[in-house]
Amino acid sequence: MQELLTDRTAHRYRDLVADTASRVANRVAGARQPFSGAERADLQRLVDAVDLDAPGVGDTAALDEVDSLFLDNAVWFHHPGYAAHLNCPVVLPAIAAEAVLAAVNTSVDTYDQSTVGTLMERRLIDWTAERIGFPAGGGVFTSGGTQSNFHALFLAREAALGATTAPRREALPRLVVFATASSHFSVGKSALLLGLEDDAVVTVHDDGHGRMDAAALAAAIDAARAAGRIPMAVVATAGTTDRGVIDPVAAIAAVAEPRGVWVHVDAAYGCGLLVSPRRRHLIAGIERARSVTVDFHKSFFQPVSSSALVVREAVDLAAGAWHADYLNPLENAEPNQVDVSLQTTRRFDALKLWTTLRSMGPDRVGELFDTAIDLAAAVHDEIEADGELELVGRSQLSTVLFRVRPAAAPDDAARDALVAPVRRVLFESGRVLVAKTVIDGRPCLKLTLLNPATTLDDVREILRVVKDAATALAGIAGEASVDDLTNDLAGAGVTGEATA
Ligand SMILES: *Cc1c(COP(=O)(O)O)cnc(C)c1O
Repeated sequence: MQELLTDRTAHRYRDLVADTASRVANRVAGARQPFSGAERADLQRLVDAVDLDAPGVGDTAALDEVDSLFLDNAVWFHHPGYAAHLNCPVVLPAIAAEAVLAAVNTSVDTYDQSTVGTLMERRLIDWTAERIGFPAGGGVFTSGGTQSNFHALFLAREAALGATTAPRREALPRLVVFATASSHFSVGKSALLLGLEDDAVVTVHDDGHGRMDAAALAAAIDAARAAGRIPMAVVATAGTTDRGVIDPVAAIAAVAEPRGVWVHVDAAYGCGLLVSPRRRHLIAGIERARSVTVDFHKSFFQPVSSSALVVREAVDLAAGAWHADYLNPLENAEPNQVDVSLQTTRRFDALKLWTTLRSMGPDRVGELFDTAIDLAAAVHDEIEADGELELVGRSQLSTVLFRVRPAAAPDDAARDALVAPVRRVLFESGRVLVAKTVIDGRPCLKLTLLNPATTLDDVREILRVVKDAATALAGIAGEASVDDLTNDLAGAGVTGEATA
């Protein structure tokens, strides 16, 4: 039984983890680009070539393979050339805690499996609730913002169905949820999973910059009710994924509360503001929500997964309780987190946040997020002053939306057509990774700056590479030629070694 971690193999575990850590450390220190730029067809061939039915090759050979197959081609979020999605570099104490929780393998579903782990998770939920301003709050760690939003809307659905005199089956198709066009796609997906109608998510007008217009919300709720619908919840986003703007939570609550509508704040992105020494005011009013989504794996620099759903009244969580004789029978008075979770067996992810807060203190975590937001503000200024670039709105957090306007792309249509090929060519080079999205019907490039160690010069280099790619692409007509261009760019040095 030498493969299992037991009292007899503890020494081998120590060596294996030390060896693994040193492999990873070498890779992190040596990453010259955020991505190797390997082609998907080649990666597929490498993956397919592994015979999963073959006899075991042993730890060393298996890890050699992980090294050459995975680490060679992983995407490195700590590299300053990575600026695509909401992925953060991770803090060291959290990675250390990850090693602890993987080895102990605690499951926090019932108290008798996790004991003090349960109490630590609950203490962190209370801590988060206090930061939000929920003195009687409760909640649970989840796998991510998607699950947290789904859970919140499930609780809101149960509350709405409980509050109406109509029978459940009749009330369900009448439920509606309000959100802006900038809200996360998991809102629509949750509505689908919760059995709501296709038209259940009502898009509320924004102020032209992506923030919900509270007066438009009032009108939308009243119109829905007049049409015989049952307003179930409004989702305010505290940090939209693309624009990085924050819905006016206090004004939204002032509209929703008297109308009896559940306010959910999706702070998956903006939750780092809870510990920000300089920007906590941006989420003023969040304490008026009924539920809040926080993604510690975004703005608290935690490894995936680390997220939570927090509710203002702990008692609201009871809607999801279910009792099994073998696990958490009703007469069991222990604090069983399975009673308030959508999951059963569940990782002790809370240990990562615990270790982080104790090692660094909350202010330091908030400073890291503030630093990333400062960088984005400086980049906004930089782009506004650059005649070859066009800024698409200002983020309150750390996203940057922009377009390139090279001389060879004289009008909007030509510039719009450049967005997808620019992103693709850069991705295929592996040198800098940026994202693209659509704002007000027009495509644009997006940077998500969540690396506090990235400097303004690093981002200037990203912008330079983007402009070079756009200029080269603008000289070529149509998507069909992009493959040729990728090769041309490699020759022209755009896909060369990163200087950052
Ligand atoms: C990222 C994000 C989510 C989804 O969170 P996951 O952890 O990826 O499931 C939800 N809402 C917003 C605003 C987000 O930015």
